[in-house]
Amino acid sequence: MRTILLSIIILVSSCSKSSYEWIDYSKTDGLFKIDASKKFEVFSTSPTPASIEKTIKNLEQAKAFYDEIFNENLVFVVLFIDNQNWNKYAFSPPPGMPQAYYEGVVVLGLNNSVMALQGREMFNHMPEEEMEALKESFGPELNLDLFFRDALSLHELGHLYQFYKTGKGSQRRWLSELFGNMCQIAAADSFEDKSTLNHMETYQNMVSKMSKGYKPPFNTLKQFESNYLEIIQTGSNYGWYQIQFYQTAKKLLSLKGKSILPKLREFLIESDVDNVGSLNDNEFDLLLEENFDEETLTLLHSIVK
Ligand SMILES: [Zn+2]
Repeated sequence: MRTILLSIIILVSSCSKSSYEWIDYSKTDGLFKIDASKKFEVFSTSPTPASIEKTIKNLEQAKAFYDEIFNENLVFVVLFIDNQNWNKYAFSPPPGMPQAYYEGVVVLGLNNSVMALQGREMFNHMPEEEMEALKESFGPELNLDLFFRDALSLHELGHLYQFYKTGKGSQRRWLSELFGNMCQIAAADSFEDKSTLNHMETYQNMVSKMSKGYKPPFNTLKQFESNYLEIIQTGSNYGWYQIQFYQTAKKLLSLKGKSILPKLREFLIESDVDNVGSLNDNEFDLLLEENFDEETLTLLHSIVK
């Protein structure tokens, strides 16, 4: 009995320990710890970060949604970083471009991030009619932190539910990005308050309208894998790919329902480089064919032609 009890205690403590152990707390060095949530830890460059309540609420609701659908109780931390200190804490500019480290850390911007200001600038040249729709969604000042921070935080948190179970390489970045998009849409759709879903839709529709006829330098999935760093550094090219992923994610969710999320996550884990090594395109296609039905495969193959 004592042995059993002891092993149970060891098992329980090792489980809870490992869930915290994956977090790289060195990423929080020099930041203020903020008492903003009971569900996850929050750090910031400001001792009193303004207007983060909605982001926190979104992340808490998204955590509940992901924990349930993926059968986890994920431990993670969220950083709110101002423009001046962005490059010290995030791995890629510009300030406010949401990102997630493999080791359990989501990095988000603060009010008026460079990303949000650039987005506002980009939309300022839209025709009157589109401008009205944008203002209706984002307010008269076009507050695009509502998209880049509040909405995309769900995307980054979705990535962490994959990273928690995989190594630092991903078999195909495009499939991980599709997964991130599916997570963000399904989570926002599960909220009673649909404003975040509305922000995603409005933003993606507008950018999609604006990019009609735009032929980015990189435009195939193969290039997305081979030229990823160049693409991520060219905002418009990366945004173009994200539009394709977002639209496919929406179609897949409406076709298959949210039950495709755990199935896709399982596939990402099983096909991870750490598990099966690097697969060439034929091997990867074969694995997709073994795991998904015809309808899903057709949609996956239609992403970028
Ligand atoms: Zn992503």
